[in-house]
Amino acid sequence: MTAARPQHAPLIQFAVVDDCLQVGGIPLTRLAQRVGQTPFYAYDRAAMTARVAELRQHLPPDVHLHYAMKANPMPAVVQHMATLVDGIDVASGGELRVALDTPMDPLHISFAGPGKSDADLSMAIAAGIVLNLESEGEMERAAAIGARLGVTPRVNVRVNPDFELKSSGMKMGGGPRQFGVDAERVPAMLDRIGALSLDFYGFHIFSGSQNLKVAALQEAHEKTLALAIRLAQSAPRPPRVVNIGGGFGIPYFPGEERLDLAQVGSNLAALLETARPPLQGARIVIELGRYLVGEAGVYVCRIVDRKESRGQVYLIADGGLHHHLSASGNFGQVIRKNYPVVIGNRVQGDAREKVSVVGPLCTPLDLLADGMELAHAQPGDLVAVLQSGAYGMTASPGAFLSQPAAVEVLV
Ligand SMILES: *Cc1c(COP(=O)(O)O)cnc(C)c1O
Repeated sequence: MTAARPQHAPLIQFAVVDDCLQVGGIPLTRLAQRVGQTPFYAYDRAAMTARVAELRQHLPPDVHLHYAMKANPMPAVVQHMATLVDGIDVASGGELRVALDTPMDPLHISFAGPGKSDADLSMAIAAGIVLNLESEGEMERAAAIGARLGVTPRVNVRVNPDFELKSSGMKMGGGPRQFGVDAERVPAMLDRIGALSLDFYGFHIFSGSQNLKVAALQEAHEKTLALAIRLAQSAPRPPRVVNIGGGFGIPYFPGEERLDLAQVGSNLAALLETARPPLQGARIVIELGRYLVGEAGVYVCRIVDRKESRGQVYLIADGGLHHHLSASGNFGQVIRKNYPVVIGNRVQGDAREKVSVVGPLCTPLDLLADGMELAHAQPGDLVAVLQSGAYGMTASPGAFLSQPAAVEVLV
């Protein structure tokens, strides 16, 4: 007997009616007519709303939920998220402008990222948002700009922890990093913050991203809270905010399963029982990007040609790597694996076949599905790449090969 091949996690976020995928309650064929072109990204607002509700149900009620908008910075999406979450985390001056257009209180907008320019700092300080300081140099520049503007900057210290988030898709803390200030240097920095005209808010400790393992997240939460408690002893005032990062992952590839959110929530509740007293009422923040929006989005392109080469069927689509770098396997992946892909207008189809879906670019890297079993499809059919609501269009080299741009819609 051969072992069963690993499968993609079951498709749950979108309904299938008459064998056609529905996004925002609209059949994909109709949605494509409404959008007026392929390729496009469609994001389902009800799916985002449901995801936030699910988090609220499982996380301790006093944990604040922030949206890390680099995952999907489409202004309409950010506006929608602003009505659901408690804060927005931005990572550039451009994202800050979009966040400031929402009704979110600037006090609950924070700005992380190395290499903030003086113009970025000045915008952020004037807006009254909270800066996550990434270095001692940035601290000095923020204080000088604040003095010039006549505004006291609100600051968190972003800490590069002395541990990593295990089993993460992307590690962003532990060891030498371009992010944050090494934990062992933070006490001296806190002394300096006390001496400068800076309003100390708290800590930002982000150790990694795309994690599907409950035990790894629990360990990171435990170490993060312990580190915050230790560093708080050197702070000029008790921290008002402790942002413990996020890193909740979503299943992209065969064999990956959804995170057990109930377990993550109950583990965190237990840890907070002991962490709350020493943190004296500091607001605990979790910042999530892909977990909030990733499963709510689909990338849709149309099959232009169908051809066979030495026994292998190729479906050639009008979209690909230039709009969706991560689905092509070229956004930081070591081994290429298929995203969940379906033929959107015939999800099961009458017959199934093993095919490769490729894009129009003159590079073999332009691959959306490699040897995947899909419904038998023809030119004119729609290819839908699921799990595409995060790190899609804005994380892709849209200008490569001068193909038309994709459109984004929120439904
Ligand atoms: C990218 C990033 C996030 C979001 O990561 P996801 O994996 O999308 O949840 C959160 N915080 C910081 C500091 C980031 O850089």
